[in-house]
Amino acid sequence: MEVKRRVFPVWRGIGASSAVGWSQGWGRCLRWEPGSQERGSRIPVFDYPVWLLFCRRGRARLREVCQRGRGAIRLPTDLLNLKLPQLFDIHQVPMVFREDSIISGYRHPQSSAMDCVLSSFQMNNETINIWTHFLPTWYFMWRFLALCSTMNFLNDSYTWPLLVYMLLICIYPFTSSCAHTFSSMSAESRHICYFFDYGALSLYSLGCAISYGYYVMPDCWVNSWLHQHFVLIAIGNSLFCTSMSCYSRFVELQFPKRSKALRTGAFVVPFIFDTVPLFYRALICFWGGGTPSDALSSHCYHLLFAFLTCFLFTAHLPERLAPGRFDYIGHSHQLFHISAVVGTHFQMEGVVADMMSRRAWLQLHGATPSFLGTIGALAVSVALNLAVIGIFSAPLLWKSRPGSAQQHAHREQ
Ligand SMILES: [Zn+2]
Repeated sequence: MEVKRRVFPVWRGIGASSAVGWSQGWGRCLRWEPGSQERGSRIPVFDYPVWLLFCRRGRARLREVCQRGRGAIRLPTDLLNLKLPQLFDIHQVPMVFREDSIISGYRHPQSSAMDCVLSSFQMNNETINIWTHFLPTWYFMWRFLALCSTMNFLNDSYTWPLLVYMLLICIYPFTSSCAHTFSSMSAESRHICYFFDYGALSLYSLGCAISYGYYVMPDCWVNSWLHQHFVLIAIGNSLFCTSMSCYSRFVELQFPKRSKALRTGAFVVPFIFDTVPLFYRALICFWGGGTPSDALSSHCYHLLFAFLTCFLFTAHLPERLAPGRFDYIGHSHQLFHISAVVGTHFQMEGVVADMMSRRAWLQLHGATPSFLGTIGALAVSVALNLAVIGIFSAPLLWKSRPGSAQQHAHREQ
């Protein structure tokens, strides 16, 4: 018996099929498509030695090596026999787990939390996604601690925008890494994991706005209306970004293109808003024939990587050109992570350089950063974004309660 779960309405568009534009589309996102009997009887664990999991067809290669060098080579297979989760191909996992042009290397769609943690050491199509954001988290933490030792974040209010920015560039890759790790526990957990990922990214956009508003703003815009309302508008943008990107997951299966457009738009809007002062400064500098400062050069490198990040996110290259070839290494999401992190590195360098070099001028002319405009804005945004994530997650958590599926099945009979 098929169990349909209806949780959240999905906008189908004006004039779609009936007079009512909203449909109950979550069912399509959450429904597990039962595989064939043969697929269902697969054993979820196997005995591959750990290192063999790092290459495709590793088991066959091991057997070949053992046969060729019989007696001469003794591999420590018993020692390395760890039970790691089996991997699946695209047609073996539910629709909601499928990635465009990624054919193999999927984890079990109902993995345990331990399986998910173990899977970060096993080569699958998420492994590099996990590490390309986990390792940079430590890099940014290291840079943050180094700044803590040279700056007085506690008492010097001029450093608070940088404090907020540094906190958020540590949080967003860490959240993303966790989201990629635990996204294969269930369809519901996958959605919720990515809700947090989007929330952290939109808070990062707020961190950019706070640091740009105080350190990067062009001289002629300091104390303007935009300067005074920059952080407030950025809080609104972060809420828009989280809501829109979370909502895009609801329409992903029915309208993949619309979903992609919504999600891309959700992140592009705060990016453009945050970057307007920087664009203006770069334009003045290049048109005026001035020599770009070190800070502006770093900002320009950041912009370059930001465009590359956006391109990789939307284009799904190179895997679209050769589906299945880049499942484990080299697909667009990994490149997107790397490009985002390199861009953030340059952005951080630019922000720190501006902060140091413009201090005297900004303190003389500009408003001194207030607690409310920096740490307060962050606290309010964290609370509001968590509330948005809660609103989107609640129906999923409600539906994933044990027994709710039975109730639905009962109702639909
Ligand atoms: Zn990611």
